[in-house]
Amino acid sequence: MNSDRVCQRKTVVRQRSGEGIRLQLFKWSGRVLRSWISVLVFVLSVWAPLPVLAQQAVEAGDVSKPILLLIGIDGLKWDIIDRHPAPALSSLAQEGVRVSSLVPVMPSKTFPNFYAIATGLYPENNGVLDNATFDASLDTTFRMSTQDDPRWFEGEPIWITAEKQGIRAATMFWVGSAAEIGGRRPTYWHPFDGSVPNAARVQQVLDWLDLPLSERPQFISVYFEAIDSASHNSGVDSSEEREAVIAVDAAVAALLDGLETRGLTASSNILVVGDHGMVDLAEEQTIFLDDYVDFSALYSPQLSGERQGNVVYAAFHGDETAVDEMYSVIKNAHPRMSVYRKGAFPDWMRLSHPQRGPDLVLVPDNGWMVSKRGIPYRGPRATHGFSPLEPDMHAAMFARGPAFRQRAVVETLEVVDIYNIMTRVLGIQASKHDGNPERIELVLSSGAD
Ligand code: AMP
Ligand code: ZN
Ligand code: ZN
Repeated sequence: MNSDRVCQRKTVVRQRSGEGIRLQLFKWSGRVLRSWISVLVFVLSVWAPLPVLAQQAVEAGDVSKPILLLIGIDGLKWDIIDRHPAPALSSLAQEGVRVSSLVPVMPSKTFPNFYAIATGLYPENNGVLDNATFDASLDTTFRMSTQDDPRWFEGEPIWITAEKQGIRAATMFWVGSAAEIGGRRPTYWHPFDGSVPNAARVQQVLDWLDLPLSERPQFISVYFEAIDSASHNSGVDSSEEREAVIAVDAAVAALLDGLETRGLTASSNILVVGDHGMVDLAEEQTIFLDDYVDFSALYSPQLSGERQGNVVYAAFHGDETAVDEMYSVIKNAHPRMSVYRKGAFPDWMRLSHPQRGPDLVLVPDNGWMVSKRGIPYRGPRATHGFSPLEPDMHAAMFARGPAFRQRAVVETLEVVDIYNIMTRVLGIQASKHDGNPERIELVLSSGAD
């Protein structure tokens, strides 16, 4: 994770878009790499023919195709840059727009939120209802490991909207971007692989920026999960979380430096988004469902599969009689657990998908878990997935560039607003979405007129 300790260089073999892209990683020690870079800089400064350099500068700095760089940071809680050193993120927040509270969709988990960001659609309209989503008509549970199944991902993500309108898109990881949606993928993309170091992800973005203008993507996304992982393992405000914030901030700084050295800072729009917040858990705050009800007649994707228990949100699917029975017993079972029945979901839930909408939903209070007796608790120390009404679940967003207001603070946006912001920044027609077009004017420089 520490990009200083091991610097890894990635060579990318590009194939045509449908065939994917293969990565090869070569590990070099930081010291060896630094000395090679110095040699290279020296040789270039002495030998590069000047007209060639000038030509490249014109190409790279071409403002007719301003770049939109979307940086997705997993677990970027709304206040995280106030609690840890993050100079690069803080400068974006200060110079551009800072959204104080980015409200996630329910459940406040990774897949639903990154895909809601990409599509501007609530889960009931894009099919990604949780990290594990059951489809009753297909009798299939989609999980994070099936990231390339096109049946998982409905709606139109931003990279497809862009490609359809002639804008080249590149995704250095994003939920849904490894699947062929509506027969399309981004021009450049990678299947998600958590072992790829931050430095290699950054390098890939810079390599894309170095492509000739005719091949260079105008929309680029990149994703970092280190903060989310550290907070889960070690808790909110832990020293491990601090280290992860420092490391991810360094990756953002490297991206900003890369834009600067290519003469692209003034023309580029940078959008940093989190997917949810985080809260500490405590083992004694567990509600054991089997103390109240036998739910074996119903299927819950969260309480089956690998995990079995210690969850912060549980959906149930089954026949009406079994659901009725469970509901009547469980609805007032525990003061720290809310129970919702299909047809009576609150407005903010947005889980009424025709084939995937659950019949019953359990939501423990912030910091509480739902489990079964006999399932040991082995962490995480902190997590997310609770109601979007909980401020602890809110994420951060920072945006800087000509399309955005300067030195502005916007109190609240929803993750579903971001798709429309991106289509406005790229100057393209948005597909159907759930964002609020008035709310996004607070973020855009054009809204300041
Ligand atoms: P969560 O359980 O909600 O905290 O999920 C966070 C995890 O999601 C990260 O640690 C990644 O391993 C995983 N993840 C993020 N993006 C993807 C993706 N596109 N495909 C598969 N897994 C992903
Ligand atoms: Zn996440
Ligand atoms: Zn997480």
